[in-house]
Amino acid sequence: MPKAVVVRATGGPEALEHTEVEAKSPGAGQLLVEVAAAGVNYIDTYHRSGLYPMPLPFGLGLEGAGRVVGVGPEVTGFAEGDRVAWASAPGSYAEQAVVPAAVAVPVPEGVADETAAALLLQGMTAHYLVASTYPVRDGDTVLVHAAAGGMGLLLVQLAKARGARVIGTVSTEAKEALAREAGADEVIRYDREDFAARTRQLTDGAGVAAVYDGVGRTTFDGSLASLKPRGVLALYGAASGPVPPVDPQRLNQAGAVYLTRPSLTWYTATREELEWRAGELFEAVRSGALRVRIGGRYPLAEARRAHEDLEGRRTTGKLLLVP
Ligand code: NDP
Repeated sequence: MPKAVVVRATGGPEALEHTEVEAKSPGAGQLLVEVAAAGVNYIDTYHRSGLYPMPLPFGLGLEGAGRVVGVGPEVTGFAEGDRVAWASAPGSYAEQAVVPAAVAVPVPEGVADETAAALLLQGMTAHYLVASTYPVRDGDTVLVHAAAGGMGLLLVQLAKARGARVIGTVSTEAKEALAREAGADEVIRYDREDFAARTRQLTDGAGVAAVYDGVGRTTFDGSLASLKPRGVLALYGAASGPVPPVDPQRLNQAGAVYLTRPSLTWYTATREELEWRAGELFEAVRSGALRVRIGGRYPLAEARRAHEDLEGRRTTGKLLLVP
């Protein structure tokens, strides 16, 4: 029987159970995939903890890449043996995953399975944030929090590619070096400095056009205070915890700024949009314009340790589980 990581009761990393599960067969519109690598994402910790409730028990994980070993009825465009990747198939922390063909994309030649598994969820998120949520323009200055994380390193590179001056925040010296290597022009140690005050200083008092904030509770106030008038706060996650309710008048006081809370679902709502974002990312990786840093590989059986490291702020770049 194949193995998978299952949550029977929500909780801390100990809630992750590596166990045998029933072999699956693909239903209508589905692919059965032998998983080469599964991506670890912060949202997996929200599902595990119950912050985002899921019906119990459930197979954890959304992202991965691998080889198609079964094709369900009514599937067109995929065949056994194809290499595919995906960012939204629940139960992806597994040796075998059932992936709706509607969310699978072919992995082009020249892109390794692990790279594909590491790229899609965070890559498409970084893509929509800089291309659609606040479309970065040449000459903008933007602020990227947790700039050495999975999302952060991709955001820095994609914002730079659009001509921005990028200010990143990080909590350690090693993370500072990684953020600079990815292209950050300025890096603020927000663990020991008021990042909003420093951002004002670095922009001659003007503030930034956009803040990309996946940290949430601990950065929210400073993010608002870092914006220029009519700037955009893209609050796309809550690594430090959810942000408490906000009085809309605060957006006025901050300079008639815009607050949005986006997620990938709304930015890959059509097949066309999904293929556009995935296609641009694969091409950027193939051409060498975008580098994907795999900061940690863990055996599937050690998913728990991957969660502990991610939530303990000990990781950089992308984490993968390898069955
Ligand atoms: P990261 O690799 O960025 O890891 C989280 C990082 O956040 C840490 O390394 C740490 O960096 C920073 N951080 C700051 N405070 C804390 C804290 N109290 N606890 C833990 N980490 C903290 O993770 P991901 O790239 O997977 O995800 C980043 C964010 O992006 C998450 O909030 C996630 O939910 C969000 N996300 C949202 C999506 C969307 O569409 N809305 C899609 C994908 C991700 P440092 O040590 O430098 O402070």
